[in-house]
Amino acid sequence: MEFDLIAKHFTRATPGAVLGVGDDCALLAPTPGMQLAVSSDMLLEGRHFSPQDSPAGLGHKSLAVNLSDLAAMGATPRWATLAIALPEENDAWLTAFARGFFRMADLHGIELVGGDTTRGALTLSITVIGEVPPGQALRRDGAQAGDDVWVSGVIGSAALALAYRQGRLFMEQVDAAKVLPALYLPTPRVELGIALRGIATSAIDISDGLLGDLGHILERSHVGATLEFAALPTLPVVRDYLHEAVARDCVLAGGDDYELCFTAAPDKGDAVLAAAEGAGVAVTRIGRITAEPGLAVIDTNGQPLAIEHTGYDHFAA
Ligand code: ADP
Ligand code: MG
Repeated sequence: MEFDLIAKHFTRATPGAVLGVGDDCALLAPTPGMQLAVSSDMLLEGRHFSPQDSPAGLGHKSLAVNLSDLAAMGATPRWATLAIALPEENDAWLTAFARGFFRMADLHGIELVGGDTTRGALTLSITVIGEVPPGQALRRDGAQAGDDVWVSGVIGSAALALAYRQGRLFMEQVDAAKVLPALYLPTPRVELGIALRGIATSAIDISDGLLGDLGHILERSHVGATLEFAALPTLPVVRDYLHEAVARDCVLAGGDDYELCFTAAPDKGDAVLAAAEGAGVAVTRIGRITAEPGLAVIDTNGQPLAIEHTGYDHFAA
């Protein structure tokens, strides 16, 4: 059954590989002169998704969150492997999952070249491989004092949707409908990451929340940052809930945005905007890197915001 399942659902033409699904290993020939960027992400039922979630959406999201790591590195997606544990063989579920997965794969030119399939509690583990020219990867350790801090798209929507789903925040249904897609169908910023090669000094994708993830850049780069709360880009509907502490927390420290947070020298502002325009995504300058360590968020009067529930305490100055 396992081999039929793999043949039916996970075997596609892989013109970008020497050998794809079906042998003991896939064979891959990297583009000469390029470095490989490799990343894995695991999604567990109950922790990262719920049993009621749509299988096509899961196919989309499981690959999207991995592509987001390649984006954050400025890497061009090439190949993926998929390890999947399933409680039972469910043809309709697999068909829908594969549809979502391969739609996302085709959008970004990534090919499924192998994996593993086993019986067990529903678990998805994907490894992605991309390529980046030597020295041009967008690492976490390159931020410099004086750099601008930027973020792509809007943030907080997915966390707000999750808070709504979990009953931690009351939202009007029409409002919830505007944020739920961010939770279930995130868009990896692959083109933006590639366009920022040679422009951004550091980058990370926001999977665990802006403050925590920017905190990783600050730690690796041995710098600090000051962010302006009012500058943080959100959907208008998210603004409507910002009087609630839960909603402010979602914007600052909620997860699952899969936007890019990156830094660039101030004289690269036009280049950043041109890169974003080429990639078809908005970017917003949200603050500045400081020589002193610590992460402060200031209000419109320049006063530091009290931020408690952000899980980045080790950065408190
Ligand atoms: P082995 O026992 O040698 O590890 P498997 O029986 O696990 O081989 O897998 C057979 C082939 O199918 C291998 O090429 C493997 O990479 C591929 N494969 C298994 N599961 C998946 C999957 N979920 N998606 C893509 N390829 C898979
Ligand atoms: Mg195997």
